[in-house]
Amino acid sequence: MELLRWLPLLLGPLLLRGSRAVDPIRAFVVPHSHMDVGWVYTVQESMRAYAANVYTSVVAELVRGERRRFIAVEQEFFRLWWDQVASEQQKWQVRQLLAQGRLEFVLGGQVMHDEAVTQLDDQILQLTEGHGFLYETFGVRPRFSWQVDPFGASAATPTLFALAGFNAHLISRIDYDLKDAMQQAQGLQFVWRGSPSLSTQQQIFTHVMDQFSYCTPASLPFSNRSGFYWNGVAVFPEPPPDGVYPNMSEPVTPANIKLYAQVLVANVKQRAAWFRTPHVLWPWGCDKQFFNASVQFANMDPLLDHINSRAAELGVTAEYATLGDYFRALHALNVTWGTRDHHDFLPYASEQLQAWTGFYTSRSTLKVLARQVSALLYAGESMFTRYMWPAPRGTLDPAWALQQLQQLRWAVSEVQHHDAITGTESPKVNDMYVEHLAEGTLGVRKLMAAIVGDRAQHTAPGSDSGTRPEGLLASVYNPLAWTVTTIVTLTVGFPRVSVTDESGRLMPAQIQNSTKEPSAYDLLILVTIPGLSYRRYSVRPTTGTQAAATMASTIRFGRRLRRTNQGDKHLVPVANDCYTVLLDPNTNLLHSVQERQSNRTVRMAQEFLEYHANGDVRRGPISDNYLFAPNGTAEPSWEAVGLEIVAGKLVTEIRQHFYRDAKAQNYTYAVYSRLAHVSQGPGGELLCHRIEQEYRVGPLELNREAVLRTSSDLDSRQVLYSDNNGYQMQRRPYRHYKKNTLARNYYPMVQSAFLQDEKDGSRLVLLAERAHGVSSPGGGQVEVMLHRRLWNNLAWDLNYNLTLNDTSVVHPVLWLLLGSRAATTALRPRSALALQYRPVVLLSGELPADGAAARGPAPKPQAPQQQTAVTLPANLHLQILSVPGWNYSASHSEHVRALRTGQRGQAQADLRRVLLRLHHLYEAGEDPVLSQPVMVNLQTVLWGLGVMEAVEERSLTGTWDARTMRRWNWRTSPDPQAGLPTSRSRPPRGSRVTIHPKEIRTFFIHFRQQ
Ligand SMILES: [Zn+2]
Repeated sequence: MELLRWLPLLLGPLLLRGSRAVDPIRAFVVPHSHMDVGWVYTVQESMRAYAANVYTSVVAELVRGERRRFIAVEQEFFRLWWDQVASEQQKWQVRQLLAQGRLEFVLGGQVMHDEAVTQLDDQILQLTEGHGFLYETFGVRPRFSWQVDPFGASAATPTLFALAGFNAHLISRIDYDLKDAMQQAQGLQFVWRGSPSLSTQQQIFTHVMDQFSYCTPASLPFSNRSGFYWNGVAVFPEPPPDGVYPNMSEPVTPANIKLYAQVLVANVKQRAAWFRTPHVLWPWGCDKQFFNASVQFANMDPLLDHINSRAAELGVTAEYATLGDYFRALHALNVTWGTRDHHDFLPYASEQLQAWTGFYTSRSTLKVLARQVSALLYAGESMFTRYMWPAPRGTLDPAWALQQLQQLRWAVSEVQHHDAITGTESPKVNDMYVEHLAEGTLGVRKLMAAIVGDRAQHTAPGSDSGTRPEGLLASVYNPLAWTVTTIVTLTVGFPRVSVTDESGRLMPAQIQNSTKEPSAYDLLILVTIPGLSYRRYSVRPTTGTQAAATMASTIRFGRRLRRTNQGDKHLVPVANDCYTVLLDPNTNLLHSVQERQSNRTVRMAQEFLEYHANGDVRRGPISDNYLFAPNGTAEPSWEAVGLEIVAGKLVTEIRQHFYRDAKAQNYTYAVYSRLAHVSQGPGGELLCHRIEQEYRVGPLELNREAVLRTSSDLDSRQVLYSDNNGYQMQRRPYRHYKKNTLARNYYPMVQSAFLQDEKDGSRLVLLAERAHGVSSPGGGQVEVMLHRRLWNNLAWDLNYNLTLNDTSVVHPVLWLLLGSRAATTALRPRSALALQYRPVVLLSGELPADGAAARGPAPKPQAPQQQTAVTLPANLHLQILSVPGWNYSASHSEHVRALRTGQRGQAQADLRRVLLRLHHLYEAGEDPVLSQPVMVNLQTVLWGLGVMEAVEERSLTGTWDARTMRRWNWRTSPDPQAGLPTSRSRPPRGSRVTIHPKEIRTFFIHFRQQ
């Protein structure tokens, strides 16, 4: 939101201030340690160097002094300490401290997730993981967020935290000049209505940290040591044996206590001026602090005593507080707060020349891996749930299965950290994330293969005879709760094949030369798979002509030079039922696309450009993992382009290769665009309505940032739309700044972005399978950053090994949708999910050797589907269907009683509780049909899992019974623009629930045991 729109809203509260001048200032000193779950050092290195000591020493020090407090944030570290380090006595002490409110868990996720490049489903997962553990172990439910370090703030987060039951939300990194203006106008606190559809229903009080952010002031005028950090800075790889750390602040002594107090009081007063109430949040800590809590508290205790004994004179009192203590005191003042609408705080710039928009693309390979692995986990979760219900039919050990899922849940949660998926970590930490994701993947693929194997044995006894044939078997699982029609691509070593399904029916298939392996072939199979079901296909070499997959034919066009456009050859059309793509053989570039339903033709060209980044700090701003600081405009990175059209019955593929030099042997960039020849009727609608593009980019030259620029004749007025976490769209008009305009107009695209013609509403939609930076550098243009390779000589980057010398080749995928506003509005959310959760293919090599599925000739003809499909209405997304394996009573008081009396003991995971979460995909008023509230009968929808005994609605992360969840009400001034009235969602009636636009509702389902 631009500054000017903010000011009237911010200035308003000034007038409401009462007798503020006489109130003493109350400083809430909140001890905390910001513990990055990987950044420069791995998790194990961090545990050894400081993280374990944080909990060990903090627990001891809290026990020692009754008024002392501490907030704990990242659950991954806490759980490692709890499971591997803590003694029984320490565990008992933690329970006591929690009960007394002296130790408080805030946020409660496994990590402090990034808000710009993560997907909503993954944010929910990482919160659910942490909250599940905290609730099961301690019976506690975090009530406040602590998003102090993510690089910008999404408008989906306030909604998420409201749904999780939080009473207040806290952020810090927002655009520097906006923060400055808000500070001056005392507007750092407001009630945020993050979702336009949910508005007041899921609003949340939000505190933006002031300019000092989450660290205590870093320097003391009387000391050359850093701020209030008496324990110094953590030492890697091991703590120093003598306990002496570098940069320890001078101990507080009678000689200097007055100076210390003066600095603290002056800072509190400076900050108090930026807030409307005399309550000041004074975070005490920073990165990797409190590993030696005894020194910390031993120095702060006398300092607080000193200040409080002179409170009248100093005008300040100071007390240790948890975040909850601060928010409770603030809430009790019953102030009327201003509101903020659904605009986010992205992008984030920390200074005029420091736009944090590079990380939207940094480490593109990790970004896509995180998403693909998350999608696999999603599939594994529902597949396992369907294995367990209505009754497990096989030899699979459920405890082992749960372990595989658990390991991957942890890995996917970890990579959501704000120095993980962001690509801002050191290479060794990147390797750690990749390793954890790979190990977890292996386990879950094993689990899925075992389920297929078990099912095959169960459903087709006797097929385990005969000899192993040439060819392969593929089991393809559709993890979405809708029937999906799509193309599955397999790589095969032989050109003549036939594909049959489990009933022996021949499948439509096409074979063509592979773009990835020169000696192999791509086999494209058209599949239709019902919701949460799998199909099995057999691929066999053939010799006859009858049953073979059709061979695509290739037409080649000679290379064309960039600077010349000779010739007057006619445009070459490639068409399916939905689009005609016109290629210009004079340039070998895309010329235009006609959308057939609206008969609208949009001129459209695509090319690769590169920004040349500066790597020398002496010569100006640098681009690095975080920052994008282009050194001028982007330049074309190619001189010639070659074109091939691979035409087939099922799919036509347009292959464009871009060469850096006209005569170069190897291309540097490629685009492979696919159109599927399916009818746009029911089933084929989504597949027909997309142009699938895959690019090949890299390795880049050093200090290059590569973009794909699509230029169209849409009258977009240079307004771009891009999403917050795949949950909601933001309007991004191009803004002009005194400096750094280009970089500050980059935004994250997690799942989608679009341009809209202001005259006729036509839209060009991009859907992404990984996060990218996007911008609209000119009218009708959308530019997607695809890859970055950077090195610079900034000492800080070099010391931490945080340069981005990424030499990888990346293969990003975008799906393009073109059409009227109405058509694309209806298609966009579903198509985005179709890309995110593509069917999972398990090949015969992975399937258990003793399973029938891996052996025998073609599967014996049998009933095509053993399991009842799960199908939701078109506007509902099955956000999760899983067996979380938590062991606690659904009744809070019963659970707390059990914990108190120590009954929990060695209880087994509860495998009977099924977690279900539904998400309405559309905003209110967006579509006449799809935006309607939708009623589902869960019993009918989940009939394939058995007879339902009970449906309980829960908070987002499952820890609250929704009927008992009462969040604090923060008073707001009436807002005439408060959005559309929202209808309150009602508790489920039996198994019937109604989901309103943009609602996300979470349930525990209990099925009848068979
Ligand atoms: Zn951090």
